[in-house]
Amino acid sequence: MTSGTELENIFKQSKDLDQRLLTIAEKIINQQRLTDEEGVLLFEKGELGFVGALANHVAQRLHQGKVYFNRNFHIEPTNVCVFTCNFCSYSRQYKHRDEGWEMSMEQMMDIVRKYDGQPVTEVHIVGGVHPKMNLEFFCELVSRVRAHRPDLHIKGFTAVELDYMFRKAKLTTEEGMKRLNDAGLQSLPGGGAEIFHPDVRNVICADKVDGEGWLHIHETAHNLGMHSNATMLYGHIETYAHRVDHMSRLRALQDKTGGFNCFIPLKFRNQGNDMSHIPEVSVIEDMRLYAIARLFMDNFRNLKAYWPMLGRQSAQLTLSFGVNDLDGTIDDTTKIYSMAGSEEQSPSMSTEDLCDLITSVGKTPVERDTLYNELKVYDMPTV
Ligand code: SF4
Repeated sequence: MTSGTELENIFKQSKDLDQRLLTIAEKIINQQRLTDEEGVLLFEKGELGFVGALANHVAQRLHQGKVYFNRNFHIEPTNVCVFTCNFCSYSRQYKHRDEGWEMSMEQMMDIVRKYDGQPVTEVHIVGGVHPKMNLEFFCELVSRVRAHRPDLHIKGFTAVELDYMFRKAKLTTEEGMKRLNDAGLQSLPGGGAEIFHPDVRNVICADKVDGEGWLHIHETAHNLGMHSNATMLYGHIETYAHRVDHMSRLRALQDKTGGFNCFIPLKFRNQGNDMSHIPEVSVIEDMRLYAIARLFMDNFRNLKAYWPMLGRQSAQLTLSFGVNDLDGTIDDTTKIYSMAGSEEQSPSMSTEDLCDLITSVGKTPVERDTLYNELKVYDMPTV
C-alpha cells in the first residue's frame, strides 16, 4: 500500500504538475474536503494516473483492499411507463404495452419462491411507472414478500416510482413512505437521479420528478430510519460542472442524514433510445469519473460499479480507481442495461465468478448484506 507521505512525495517530484492539482493531492492525503471548483478542476485537468492513484489511496485507507458484493435478485414488475425519458431504452408507453411486460402479483411471488432455500439476502424491486400499479398494489407485494421470506432485505422503488405513487394516492411523501415502510420496505435503490441540474434534466427527462423532489424523497426515507443509494447518469449532454453539482447536492444530504449506503455512477448507453446520436464516453473517461467520485464524495464510504451496465472487464478495472463494491450476484431478471446496448446481454454471475474477478486484481472479496455488514470474507487464492 502506498502511504500518504510516499504519495505526497511522488506528486511533489512531478515538476509538471499544476500547483492547484498538488493542493488537491495534499487535501486528499490530509482527509480534507474538496470544493466544487476543485471537483471541476479534477475533471478538466486530472489525468487518469493522477486521479487513479489518489482514489486508490482513499479506497485503501477506507477498506484495506476489501471489495464487497451481495447475493440478491431482481423483480422488475413492468417496463410500461408513463414517463418519456429520452435516454431510456427499456420502457414502453401504456398504449404500446403489448410490446412490454406487466407482472401479476402471483408472477412476482413466483420469482420470490424461486429463491426459497437459497442464501440470497436482498430483493431489489424496480421498474417502469405503470399507471395502474399503485401504492396499494405495491404495499401488498412488499408485505407478501415480507411474510414469505422474513429474512430478506426488501429494497425497492426509485424516487420516480414513489413520487408518482404518492401523488396518485394523494398522500404526502411522509405518509406514503410510512405506508411502504410499515408494509416491510427497508431501503430505496438509487435510480432516477440522472443529473439533478434543471438545464440537463429538462432536456433528458423533463416530465418526471425533479432534483429537489428526488432528494426530498430520499431525505424522508432516511428520517424514517430507512437507507438508500444514490446514482448519477453520466456521459451524455452534461458538463463537468453538472456532474459536480449533482455530487455536491448528494454530499450535502449525506452530511445531513447519513442515510446513503453507496454512490453508483451509471454510464449512459446509447442503443435503442432517443439519444442514440450521442456517442458513449471512453473507458478512460469512465475510470476518471469513478476516481473523481471517490475523491469528491468524501462522506460516501462505498462506491459501487454496476457490472451489468459497464461489462465485467471494465467493472474489474474500476477496482483500481476507487471502487469498493461490485453489484451482487444476480440472475437475468434485470433487463435495464441489456436493452441499452451493454456488453452484458444476459447478466448473471456466480459467487465464484465474482470472487475470481476480485481476487485476480489482488483484492479481497467480502460478501455483505444490504447495510454493508460483513457476512463472509473470502480467502485470497494461493498462487
Ligand atoms: S428511465 Fe424510468 S421513468 Fe424514465 S422512461 Fe425509463 S422506466 Fe420510465
